Amino acid sequence: MTKENKKLKVAFPHMGTVYIAWSAALKKIGVEPFVPPYTSKKTLSLGTKHSPEAICLPYKLILGNFIEAIEGGTDYVAMISSPGCCRLGEYGNCIHNALTDLGYKAKYIELTLYDGIKGMYDFLKRISGKNDPVLFARAINIAIRKMFLLDDLENALSYYRAREIHFGDAEKNYNKALQYVKDADNTRSLKKAKKMAFDEMAKTEIDKNKEVLHVDLTGEIYLVCDQFSNQDITRELGKMGVQTRRSLTISSFLKDAIIPKIFRKGETHLQRAYRLAKPYLMRDIGGDSLECVSDVAYADERGIDGIIHISPFTCMPEIMSQNIFPAMRENCEIPILPLIMDEQTGKAGYLTRLEAFVDLMRRRKRKLLKEQEKQAELIK
Ligand code: SF4
Repeated sequence: MTKENKKLKVAFPHMGTVYIAWSAALKKIGVEPFVPPYTSKKTLSLGTKHSPEAICLPYKLILGNFIEAIEGGTDYVAMISSPGCCRLGEYGNCIHNALTDLGYKAKYIELTLYDGIKGMYDFLKRISGKNDPVLFARAINIAIRKMFLLDDLENALSYYRAREIHFGDAEKNYNKALQYVKDADNTRSLKKAKKMAFDEMAKTEIDKNKEVLHVDLTGEIYLVCDQFSNQDITRELGKMGVQTRRSLTISSFLKDAIIPKIFRKGETHLQRAYRLAKPYLMRDIGGDSLECVSDVAYADERGIDGIIHISPFTCMPEIMSQNIFPAMRENCEIPILPLIMDEQTGKAGYLTRLEAFVDLMRRRKRKLLKEQEKQAELIK
């Protein structure tokens, strides 16, 4: 992009709240972010119409986001590329070809996230036509900080939603909190926004004594993070009194792929994945399978009530993880619910499975508590 073109609009595909972080980085370097409408049934049908039938769900949704962005007036669509052992390695070329075949004029640009800071730097340079290391460092910094804060806020939402007295209060406060994060445009204002956001969340009236179940969510990262494709699983579980924790988050991915080692605190998700998955899976087989296998062991280790594994239909790495779970039963007693999603997944059947799983976890928890009480009495 040249200097005269710097007001061109750039769109990324959606995935949860990640648009707030990338918009902040683009604004920082003087490029206009174009946020396409949030993924909807229309997005899905546009993407499905122009995709190979058996391709995984994230591809269809990303293509749909790009079509909507181009039709909405963006000049560039930016795709995150990856070497990937699965179809992810082909996403970039296939999407680019599909858009060209459809006759769209918008330019296609790739962000090579797996090149770490260098990949982000090169991307910002190409998109802004500038070469300003200080400006780019600020852009990367604000985007990363926002992403960490957004993931923390989502955890807070899950805490309050599982305990709220009036249904919908936590979400209302969360939406106000998100606005504070969106409005902050530098690290100082983001610090203030963080305080205001958590104060807002804390206004939710809750029942602290409620019997709450704790569930980890793992699976393919796009489906775990994107509420449209997972049919807003955290919300549905929250209504049933379940506090969820996403095992795969954008911030944990950034910690592994972008943030230099010297700035990392503690064990990263990938480091933990190699350590805990080892007895069942010796190497990375693509996608998030190594993380998923280790997430089951990690949830079991922490005594969590259950874990849900969400994957797109035909996702090769996650088919592998699901085939490893039965072998893990010998050492891990945690209940696991595998959910496979595609464009045909109906809401009613999906909710029935969630309700049955919650019921199972609740009975198991009560039984375990009774056994512990009995043992405590015997010791007396
Ligand atoms: S991880 Fe699964 S869903 Fe994601 S690109 Fe690879 S095959 Fe598709």
